[in-house]
Amino acid sequence: MAEVIKDWDNFKIVAPPLAGALLVKGLRRGRPVSAGEVLARRQGESFGDIHAPVAGVIAEISSTEIVIRRDSAAVGDPPRPVDLSGLSRAGLSRVLKELGVDLPEFLPGAPVIISTFNSEPGLTFALALLNEHRETLGAGLVAVLALNPGARVIWAVDRPGQAPAGVEEYILKYRNYPKTLPALVKKEIMGNYDPAGRGVLGLRDLQTLGRVFRTGLPLTHLVLTLGGANYFVPVGARAIDLLTFANLLPGPGDAVVAGGLIRGRTLARLEQGLGKNIEGLHLVRAPAGSGPPAPCRRCGNCARACPVGLPLFLFVHREPVAWPGLINQARSEWSGCLGCGACALACPVGRPLLALSRLLKA
Ligand code: SF4
Ligand code: SF4
Repeated sequence: MAEVIKDWDNFKIVAPPLAGALLVKGLRRGRPVSAGEVLARRQGESFGDIHAPVAGVIAEISSTEIVIRRDSAAVGDPPRPVDLSGLSRAGLSRVLKELGVDLPEFLPGAPVIISTFNSEPGLTFALALLNEHRETLGAGLVAVLALNPGARVIWAVDRPGQAPAGVEEYILKYRNYPKTLPALVKKEIMGNYDPAGRGVLGLRDLQTLGRVFRTGLPLTHLVLTLGGANYFVPVGARAIDLLTFANLLPGPGDAVVAGGLIRGRTLARLEQGLGKNIEGLHLVRAPAGSGPPAPCRRCGNCARACPVGLPLFLFVHREPVAWPGLINQARSEWSGCLGCGACALACPVGRPLLALSRLLKA
């Protein structure tokens, strides 16, 4: 049931992605690691370091990932909790980063918006987090205010009476995708369009922040939607193990999508471990009898559906072979593209508009 989040513990191997992080000294194949031990440090102030999600032995280290074979007897005690109370704002940011949290980007003087919606189709954990993890969300809110002293916090909801006591509430008027994307939640509340949606936190971000702030322990597990259910899974859980557990192994032509169903990315390698930013894993069956899309009907649905008014009509009636010549002209306008796929969803003949949008934004 989507409203319950279970722990997923059904794995022998994890492979946390390195994402450009620098390995700590002395890490090598065959070395035992304890659960929560730091493995790699990420550069930049806002990216959290990477920790072993479980105790085990390092089976392999490549330029992209660290593979750990699980073995609970491999090494002794996990790290001791860090006391986060009474730290300065800079001190708290530093320690949260060291404990693995990717820090949200807050704009000075701007409100912080907490969106209680699943940002896109295929993700279902928002209600479960609201129902089952109120206390941890509350700790996340305390952490947000410690990182942004005096900030105005707005809790975006679908009906009144859901915000924690003392927190301003905003009832979102438009709740259908793509209006649930952070940038569009912010646009509705604040009136300005910021494609990065800075200052908007989803409940997954808030729960993660709250969990680390409350326990003082490294971030090792995050919530993920898998086959319509929700689980706390270790950072670096491998797609192949999750799909096997959920009985969702792909057949010829099927795709495995990591993220949401619209903006997610197709995985090329199922043995890869999922990073902290992956919110869902889906099997998308190959459509029966699919062929090349029919010619554009010039209906204009795609341009009307675009929530930020991008000029899709420049492209839609031309064949993809003509796109490269047009792309350079349009690239600057496309920096505001959300990759929301509303244009593709509105197309009656299935033109590859999301692929076009990604190409333009790249
Ligand atoms: S993906 Fe399509 S609908 Fe969405 S913002 Fe980009 S061009 Fe507009
Ligand atoms: S929605 Fe599809 S068919 Fe209609 S104008 Fe856009 S690309 Fe053409």
